Parts: sequence; C-alpha cells; structure tokens
Amino acid sequence: MKTVTLPSGEAVPALGMGTWTQGEQAERRKDEIAALQHGIDLGLRLIDTAEMYGEGAAEELVGEAIRGRRDEVFLVSKVYPFNAGRRSAVAACERSLQRLGVDCIDLYLLHWRGDIPFAETVETFECLRQQGKIRHWGVSNLDPQDMQELLAVEHGAQVATNQVLYNLSRRGIEWDLLPWCRQQGIPLMAYSPLEQARLLRHQPLRELAAANGMTVFQMALAWLLRQDGLIAIPKASSRRHVEENHAALDKHLDAETLAALDRMFPPPTRAKPLEML
Ligand code: NDP
Repeated sequence: MKTVTLPSGEAVPALGMGTWTQGEQAERRKDEIAALQHGIDLGLRLIDTAEMYGEGAAEELVGEAIRGRRDEVFLVSKVYPFNAGRRSAVAACERSLQRLGVDCIDLYLLHWRGDIPFAETVETFECLRQQGKIRHWGVSNLDPQDMQELLAVEHGAQVATNQVLYNLSRRGIEWDLLPWCRQQGIPLMAYSPLEQARLLRHQPLRELAAANGMTVFQMALAWLLRQDGLIAIPKASSRRHVEENHAALDKHLDAETLAALDRMFPPPTRAKPLEML
C-alpha cells in the first residue's frame, strides 16, 4: 500500500475510505459494513467519518464495522465548527468516541471554519491530545488564508492535514493551496475524489479510461494517487466498488494520458475561491 507520512512521521495509507451518507438507510447497512470490512482487509485502513454524517449514524456504522479490529484502522472523524469550542469540543469528541466504540480517534478534524477562534479550537485539540482522546488533529475546507491564520496561533503548526475537495474536475487548489501545503509539509486529504460519481457522465473521460484498460473511477483515483503527500478517501458502499477502487493503486498513467487529462480538465490559471461540497 502506498503511504503518506504525516508531519509526526507516522505513515498512513494514501487510499482510504469515506463514509458520508453511510449508516442512514437500514436496508443498505449490511452491504456498507461488508464494504468497509472488505476495504480494511485489502489495506484501505484509513476510514473517514464525521459527527455530522447522519448525525452520528456513520460513526456508529464505522464502530460496528471495526469492532474487534480497532488496531487495524486509522480513524478520522470531524467536529462541527459550532462544537469546536473549549467545552463543546470535549463533549463532541466524547460522543464520537462512544459512537465509534473506541478510546481514541487517530485524527480529529475541524470540519470547516466557523465563528470559534482557531486559537481556542487548537488549544482544545491539544488538550484532547494530551488526554489521549485523539492522537492527531487537523482541519478541513480551509483556504490558503485560513491556513496561514491557523499556523500563526499557538500550536497551530501541529496541524496534521487539511481535507479539501479535490478531483479531476475540481483542480482549483493546484494554484495555491496544494503547493503551499506541500512547501509546509502538510499532507492534503482529497475528499469527493470521484466527484460523487458525476465523473462517470464525462464521455471523453470514459473513452480515455477504457482505452487505458481502466474504469473512470480508477483513472480518477490513479490521477490523485500519483501525487505525493495526498490521501484520497472515496466512498464505496459495496464490496465490488471497494475492490474496483483498490485496484486503482496498481494503475499507472503515462505522460500522454496525463496530457490528455489536462486538456479535458485544465489546471487552474488563476486563484479561485476554495470549492466545497
Ligand atoms: P465520492 O467522490 O467518494 O463518490 C462517492 C460515490 O461514488 C458514491 O455514489 C459511490 O457509490 C460511488 N462509487 C464509489 N466507487 C465506485 C465504483 N467503483 N463504481 C461505481 N460507483 C462508485 O464522494 P463523497 O462525497 O462520498 O466523498 C468521499 C468522502 O469524503 C465522503 O464519504 C466523506 O467521508 C468525505 N467528504 C468530506 C467532506 C468535508 O467537508 N470534509 C465533504 C464531502 C466528502 P456507492 O456508495 O453506491 O458505492
């Protein structure tokens, strides 16, 4: 498994699994759990969830999927911005731990920027870390200016990652955020790496993928995974989808294919506001 090294020196899988909308429909639960467990078996050991997803339903589902094998996975969860205060974050983290059925979250992210000052959130994350409730903390949906503000607060430089929207059709961060984070040694986590399956509608991409002996989703993931310092977290709710996505790790994109992708999905030529879903 390709890995990405966090600023702490810990290596995590470059390909993980997302869980947004999972755990919300009883009739899909069995398949979703089987998909997550199969993914862990294949080495997709990083699981991304959030207190927001199904208002805790996704965390509960993850808890069920990892029961008895907690040590095999690297768990990422997120706190709502309005819960990222001195007291509220401690309580939110405790609820997440209970739903996940674990003693410690590996990486705890601020889901997006809210009204609570970074200094207060970071101080609280550092306390949670000292208490052993979380091992690392990070952020999500922060643009370059937000990141600079974050790094200016005490302990702000301890940030382990910024999770942002990034896929073939959303390349805005290549202009500024991506190079800046790379320079600072902060890995990025690409969310919605399949553009929530909408990439499938792109006929020229389908043809290019087929010509290269891969599916659209494998091509989209291989395109992300060729970059160092980048973690991709596609969500898949069936064993078949998990297997297909896992196989992207073995797909290579040659220079000609990368150039064709650049023509279909041009890189940014100026700064754009950070996109989010
Ligand atoms: P993705 O880009 O991962 O796409 C998910 C969709 O693609 C689902 O409909 C899924 O279907 C489908 N899919 C996945 N693999 C395959 C396959 N091999 N063949 C066919 N269809 C496939 O979208 P998400 O928005 O879910 O993003 C991934 C994760 O990123 C989220 O689940 C969440 O954990 C995180 N995220 C974080 C955000 C943030 O603000 N920090 C915002 C958005 C997402 P099916 O489920 O049926 O397999």
